[in-house]
Amino acid sequence: MEHNNKLDSLNRLYEIDHQLKKLGKEKKEIQDKCFHKVDGIIKFDESNILKVYCCDCYKELRYPTKEEQDNFLNNGNTRVPTANG
Ligand SMILES: [Zn+2]
Repeated sequence: MEHNNKLDSLNRLYEIDHQLKKLGKEKKEIQDKCFHKVDGIIKFDESNILKVYCCDCYKELRYPTKEEQDNFLNNGNTRVPTANG
């Protein structure tokens, strides 16, 4: 019985990996088509590091400048340009 459960889990994990790969590819295709011309938005990533993302495609673009970080932390200002400066 335990063996079957293990096999079920493995099959499911395989399926999840397959889906993740597929979705990751689709995500990349959408982001590759984006010109990242609109405003960027500052957010913490999964590792609690502040990053600038594109508002249109949510791609990680760059690290915020010190000034932008201060502005975000002190004033809650999340809008920044997509490129530095
Ligand atoms: Zn974009």
